[in-house]
Amino acid sequence: MVIRAGPRRSVSAMPNRAPPTIPKVVLFDMDDTIFDHRFAVRQALARVRRDDARLSRSTLAGLLGEYDRLLEAVHPDVLAGRMTHAEARRERFRKLFEWSGARLPERELALVASSYRAFYQAARRPVPGAPELLRWLRRRATVGVVSNNHTDEQNDKLRALGLDGEVDFLLTSEDAGVEKPDPAIFRRALELAGAEAHDAVMVGDNWPADVEGALAAGIRPVWLNPSRRPRPPGRPAVAELLGLRPIREVASRLDPSAEEA
Ligand SMILES: [Mg+2]
Repeated sequence: MVIRAGPRRSVSAMPNRAPPTIPKVVLFDMDDTIFDHRFAVRQALARVRRDDARLSRSTLAGLLGEYDRLLEAVHPDVLAGRMTHAEARRERFRKLFEWSGARLPERELALVASSYRAFYQAARRPVPGAPELLRWLRRRATVGVVSNNHTDEQNDKLRALGLDGEVDFLLTSEDAGVEKPDPAIFRRALELAGAEAHDAVMVGDNWPADVEGALAAGIRPVWLNPSRRPRPPGRPAVAELLGLRPIREVASRLDPSAEEA
């Protein structure tokens, strides 16, 4: 499903629409854009909570909210190399248990964190519609993934989802040496694609990283906004998507000429 950034027009008002023009380059964010990170976190936390009475005292929704907050807080340390993914996971669970009113010895913390990791890995799935969309776009455009994370972690996700053959390149902040929203990472992606900013579109769920980053690099953003959050006050309207299917509707949102119509 899609929503338009501009005024709505009924389908009957445009009976002879030409097929959408697909930009030469379509860039995607990874987590919660083509990889369903939120689903995997939810599944894994639910399993850990079920197995541990100390976490069962809190609601799953409460734990998810706190875990999300901890992920955001610790991720910069992982990106900067101050912590490994495993250390960050233990740190998140230390704080999550503290938040639930419990203190765990280190050894137990490591066990909980590693079983969470196993549940998370087992629950990995693409965002609904992503495989079909990437396959369809790949025949028409250069498809790249631009992600603030480590290359091994993101390559592993692409392989697990069976999407490694469906993208032309993965560019991580680890490889680029800068993170979104720094326009330098988008310029590097354009170099990899052999294209100019006006040839590209960037699809992502994170307003500051994906939308603002793309705008700063002169790339047209498409905001994946399934929960219909309002855009930040004072910021320009951009094309929006509620999901990655059906393909024809997503394609029409990627078409730059549809924007001005
Ligand atoms: Mg994201």
